Amino acid sequence: MIVMKNVQKHFGDLHVLRDIDLEVPAGQVVVVLGPSGSGKSTLCRTINRLEPVDSGVIEVEGRALPDEGRDLARLRADVGMVFQSFNLFAHKTILENVTLAPMKVRKKSKADANARALELLDRVGIASQKDKYPAQLSGGQQQRVAIARSLAMDPKIMLFDEPTSALDPEMVNEVLDVMVSLAKEGMTMLVVTHEMGFARKAADRVIFMADGAIVEDSDPESFFSQPESERARDFLGKIL
Ligand code: ATP
Ligand code: MG
Repeated sequence: MIVMKNVQKHFGDLHVLRDIDLEVPAGQVVVVLGPSGSGKSTLCRTINRLEPVDSGVIEVEGRALPDEGRDLARLRADVGMVFQSFNLFAHKTILENVTLAPMKVRKKSKADANARALELLDRVGIASQKDKYPAQLSGGQQQRVAIARSLAMDPKIMLFDEPTSALDPEMVNEVLDVMVSLAKEGMTMLVVTHEMGFARKAADRVIFMADGAIVEDSDPESFFSQPESERARDFLGKIL
């Protein structure tokens, strides 16, 4: 569960998050939409303190985000994040990419980490590639490894920031399929994406941001069929 109350954030004079109030209950899948520069990535990044906020409260799993230190590291481990760029370790094999953090941060034994990694790689359809290096995989395969790597930490929440927007079109679905199955299994997810098919299929809720504020917050069906604000209508007119 994620709770944000009265969150404010500036970059210099730019007010990038305006009075954000957001509650994402456990198991809910929230899709975040909005024009470029509306603050979607910043919103995601504040949830694991990759980005500090000016004021307000952010809680993950019922605990306020600490500013730093060991508590922050522990909390970050509960929040998986997948970005547009896959950021795999280039000089490690696929299997090593997935086992590294569980061994280092979760102190898992190599045998345990390997077993879990193989299970996850199998789940995202990449088990046969385990001994290759990232550069030998397609973008879609690399992104699926990045998802498996996040899941290996047994996160309570998964954040996705435009996970498919760097992919060739034919690879988008293989990544979305993994995300849809994760959603169906009850993972709490916050997903920034312009993939409306995913939003319709998997989202419990759609949030529309503009100029750093949450302008609409509704179920996907109502949002797509009858957006309330001019900003949202304008946005949907451009992307649909
Ligand atoms: P996009 O759809 O293009 O990814 P976004 O909705 O994710 O956009 P953000 O990346 O959150 O938007 O950026 C919100 C605003 O904050 C933008 O105006 C951006 O230029 C600005 N911004 C983001 N990061 C920084 C930074 N580190 N320093 C200064 N300004 C920043
Ligand atoms: Mg962004």
